[in-house]
Amino acid sequence: MWLPAASGETREVLDPADATTLQLVSEGGAEDADAAVAAARRAFDAGDWSRTPVAERSALLRRVADLLQRDREEIALIESRDTGKTLEEGRVDVDDVTNAFRYFADLVMNESGGRVVDAGSPDVHSVIVHEPVGVCALITPWNYPLLQASWKIAPAIAAGNTFVIKPSEVTPLSTVHLVKLLVEAGLPAGVANIVTGAGLPVGQRLAEHPDVDLFSFTGGLVSGTKAGAAAVSGAKKIALELGGKNPNVVFADACATEEGFDTAVDQALNAAFIHSGQVCSAGARLIIEESVRDRFVSELARRAEKIKLGRGTEDGVECGPLVSQQQLDKVEAYVASALAEGAQLRCGGARPEPSEVRPATGYFYAPTVLDGCHREMKVIREETFGPILTVETFSTEDEAVALANDTEYGLAGAVFSADTARARRVAARLRHGTVWINDYHPYLPQAEWGGFGKSGIGRELGPAGLDEYRESKHIYENLRPEPVRWFAG
Ligand code: NAD
Repeated sequence: MWLPAASGETREVLDPADATTLQLVSEGGAEDADAAVAAARRAFDAGDWSRTPVAERSALLRRVADLLQRDREEIALIESRDTGKTLEEGRVDVDDVTNAFRYFADLVMNESGGRVVDAGSPDVHSVIVHEPVGVCALITPWNYPLLQASWKIAPAIAAGNTFVIKPSEVTPLSTVHLVKLLVEAGLPAGVANIVTGAGLPVGQRLAEHPDVDLFSFTGGLVSGTKAGAAAVSGAKKIALELGGKNPNVVFADACATEEGFDTAVDQALNAAFIHSGQVCSAGARLIIEESVRDRFVSELARRAEKIKLGRGTEDGVECGPLVSQQQLDKVEAYVASALAEGAQLRCGGARPEPSEVRPATGYFYAPTVLDGCHREMKVIREETFGPILTVETFSTEDEAVALANDTEYGLAGAVFSADTARARRVAARLRHGTVWINDYHPYLPQAEWGGFGKSGIGRELGPAGLDEYRESKHIYENLRPEPVRWFAG
């Protein structure tokens, strides 16, 4: 059942390529969050889903995966227009999400049997079983709306929970479509609930709500810790996926051959500028061995200048606009502060000229390379979440590791080296949740995703990503009951 906001208010969802209105959506408030939690609570307690056989839940996830593939082009278009990303990126997201639903469909089947533990006596049968946590509140950001929603929804429903999702108010459209697919796939009424609206009041209300059992948030450090604190004060389970300031460490030996050099430059470009750098794991800090810096950065800047910026739905466009005016202002401010602190601009650093594929009203910003950066600069310490690549240099392996770990975050990073032993040595020393060797950005649904340090609490994907949504219960069965006689009387 789809309802308007209790207040009757709506919000305009904008196309970031030209700032026109794409769609009006209901602007939910605390009252709507309460109604959604009540529906999720009723559905959970009724047991129509939480006590459904695992095979049925798994089959539903598979149906959702099939429906996602059926609607692949439609969803890719929705995502591209809403976030600004290219259509091709939208398609990749749909395929990734399809794989995540299929992965959790398999995992929940394989993991449903429980685990017998040895109680040390033949007269005891002791088993660990898994049960759903209950009502889950899921909060997602604007950069990968469909993907972030799916990384939460797929394991949540696989485990038998009910949920309320609040997508980013900036990009709610693909999540609305996904919820429609869940209903079409046969999810019982009340299991999937969505409230569109702002972090304050909707997200905050979900964090505080006494009937929410688990609060899972993906977004920025400031709002995440605030919402997480509210959730923890009610003793909810929490999972936080926060920001990153991710190092891409390139050793000179990776560039010793022409092929190696081209690969490392190309990967650095991809690491920093895909989706205009609005990626939590973006390789925004290039940490490069001093001896190859000049050649590497020149080539990088030459190629960055050629990136075709425009509306994500246009053929040939490689990077879309930033998601909002607010994001554009933030990126401009970071570049200005870096230049004031002594960084050298190698390319970009401005809004591009408007063109046929780039309306003047769109939130475009040119891919920017800032050389000569150091740890005291704001642009090095903070997540810019835009098309800004900073360059720092090192001379020794220890220096490279120290620089790469010099961040309060710890989400992801990469090492490029032709020396396998060195690459593995450095990877082992990086304090980041994902480390790529001679690659950047791939992730797998079967591999946990999440961060060290202030990049978050908990993991998504992989077996741990399912466990976030399950309680473990120990059932201890005495097969030969007899009096204990602890008390004499
Ligand atoms: P944001 O923190 O501004 O918003 C994220 C979500 O939280 C939105 O739905 C927002 O409405 C909601 N929100 C805001 N304040 C809230 C509050 N007080 N209580 C509850 N909910 C609240 O983040 P954003 O700008 O949408 O997204 C960008 C951030 O997301 C970046 O920091 C990025 O690194 C992070 N991110 C992390 C991952 C990851 O896997 N670690 C993935 C994608 C994005």
